[in-house]
Amino acid sequence: MNRTLFLLFLAFSIQLSAQDALTSNKSMTYHDLLEEYKNLDHQFDQAFLIPYGKDDCGETIHLFVISGTSVFQPQRLHELNKCILFINNGIHPGEPDGMDASLIFAKELLYKESNHKLLENVVVCIIPTYNIGGALNRNSYSRANQDGPEEYGFRGNARNLDLNRDFIKTDAANTKTLKQILLQWNPDVFVDTHVSDGADYQYTMTLVSSQHNKMSPPAGKYMHDVFTPALFQSMKSKKDEMSPYVECFTYESSPDSGIIGFLETPRFATGYTSLYNCFSFITETHMLKPFPERVKSTQRFLNSMMSICSEKKDEILATRKSAEEYDLKMEKYPFNWETDFSKYEELSFKGYESTHIKSKVTSGNRLKYYLDKPYVKTIPFYNEYKANDTIEIPKFFYVPQAWENIVRMLEANGVKSIRMNKDTSGTFTSLSISDFKTTDTPFEGHYLHFNTKTTTLQVQTEIKKGDYMINCNQKAIRIILETLIPSAVDSYFNWGFFDSILQQKEWFSSYVFEDIAEKLLSEDSKLKTDFEKWKAENPKEDEFNQLYYVYSHSKYFEESYRRYPVRLVY
Ligand SMILES: [Zn+2]
Repeated sequence: MNRTLFLLFLAFSIQLSAQDALTSNKSMTYHDLLEEYKNLDHQFDQAFLIPYGKDDCGETIHLFVISGTSVFQPQRLHELNKCILFINNGIHPGEPDGMDASLIFAKELLYKESNHKLLENVVVCIIPTYNIGGALNRNSYSRANQDGPEEYGFRGNARNLDLNRDFIKTDAANTKTLKQILLQWNPDVFVDTHVSDGADYQYTMTLVSSQHNKMSPPAGKYMHDVFTPALFQSMKSKKDEMSPYVECFTYESSPDSGIIGFLETPRFATGYTSLYNCFSFITETHMLKPFPERVKSTQRFLNSMMSICSEKKDEILATRKSAEEYDLKMEKYPFNWETDFSKYEELSFKGYESTHIKSKVTSGNRLKYYLDKPYVKTIPFYNEYKANDTIEIPKFFYVPQAWENIVRMLEANGVKSIRMNKDTSGTFTSLSISDFKTTDTPFEGHYLHFNTKTTTLQVQTEIKKGDYMINCNQKAIRIILETLIPSAVDSYFNWGFFDSILQQKEWFSSYVFEDIAEKLLSEDSKLKTDFEKWKAENPKEDEFNQLYYVYSHSKYFEESYRRYPVRLVY
C-alpha cells in the first residue's frame, strides 16, 4: 500500500475503534481486541505483542508493550531508568471498560506525535485481556446492576475462580502466567481496571490507591501525599473529578455516614504488586454510568497516569528504591491491618440524597437514591489503618523438603532459596497453631482459615540435607513474611496449604491408657496438679476427655499435631 493510502487507512482504523467503544454500547470481543493489538505490533517498531503462558481455558495470555526506544528487554529498560507502567485489564471481564479504554489509550500514544515525548520516560505494558476464559463466556445479564455494554464476559475464569483473589494461592494458570510476566517486567506502577458495585453517587471514576499504611513507609507516604493527590488533581482539571472508591459501612448504607479506604490484602492483584513496592491502583468506574462514558473516563485516567508517571518518573523510581532499602533494614513487620476508626479525613463528596422506603417487592425496606437531589457534603473518609500484629523478622525460615510445594510457590513470586548441602541440628523457633477458624463453605476453592493464632516454642530440630533455607534479606521479603507467618491474613497456612498438620494421626484405647495415665500422674506432680485444676474448672468433661487431657500433656502425644513445620531462625 502506498504511504498516503496507508496513513489514511491508519487514521480510519483508529477512528473506527475509538468510535466503537466511546460512542456505542458495545465492548470489543476478545478476538477482535487481540487483532487490533496484532495490527499495532505490525505497524509500529515501538509496539510489541508478546505471547506468554496459558489461561485456564487454553488460550495464550498476551502482553502488549509500548517502548519509545524500541527496547523490549525489561532488565535493560530498568537500567535505562524508564518508569514501567503496567495496566491489567479484564481480571473481571464483566467489567470490560479498561479493555476498550486501554486499546484507545495505546493507539493514541502510538499515533499522536504529541504523545511521543511521554514515551521517553515511560514504558507501557498492557494485558489486553487477563481472564480470557471469562471474556469468551459472553452474556448480557451477569452484571445485573451495570449500565452496559450490551455484551460482556463473566467474572469467573475457566475454573470459575475469581482471579482477583488468586494471587497467593495461585490456583489458576492465569495467575501463574501473570506472575511470570510481573517478575520479568517488575513494574513501577500498576493499574488494575474494574467497574464498581455498591452505592450511587455523581462520579464516573472512583479510585483505590493501594492502602498506604500497609505499604513500605517511604512508598506509603509518597502514595498518600503526592501520587494519589496528583491523580485526583489531573482528573479534576479534565472535568472528570474522581472520588476515592466508595466503600460504605454496609452494602445497604449510603455514603452519607462516611466511606472506608479499601484494604487490598495480598490475595488481590494490587495487594500483591504492592508487596514489591510497586505503586498500585484500582480504577473503579461507576456501574450506573453509561458504558461509553465509563470507557472515556478510564481512558482519561490512563492519560493522567501516563503524564504523572512521565513528569514524576525520577521521584517514583527513587521512592521505590528507598522503600526497597527500608524493607531490607526492617526489624519488625507489622501485618493484619484494620481500619482505625479514630482517624479520618474530611472529604467533600458529590452524592445523591437517599432514604430507606418501603419495598414493593419484599416485606422490608429498600434503599432509594434520588438522582434529582444531588448534593455536595463533607463526609468522613476513614483511610488510616493500624496493624493488629507485629512480628520480629527472623533472619531465615527453614522449609523442610517435604513441603517443597511451598518452596515452588515462593519461587514463583521471585523468592530465592538455598538448599542445605548437609544435615545439621540446633534449637530453632517453632510455631504451634493454637487457634484458628475456618469458613463453613469453600471460598475460591479453599476452606479458608482466619483468626489464626500461634504460640512460640524453642525446639531441637534436625535440618536435613536438601531442606530449604529462605533468607529474609531479599527483595521479596514482604511476600515471604505475608505467606510464611501463619497468622497473616493471606498466609499459605490460612489458604489451607498446611492442613495435614491439623489432623491428629495416633490415638489411644482408654482401657489401655487408663493404667499409663495413672502412672504418669503418680510420677509427675505438676501434671497431677494441672489435671486436677482443669477437672475442677471443666466439670462437664467426660472420662474420655479427661484421659485425653493426660494423653495430650504427655510424651505419648504426637509433636507434629498443629506444629507448623517451617522453622524460624533469629
Ligand atoms: Zn472488579
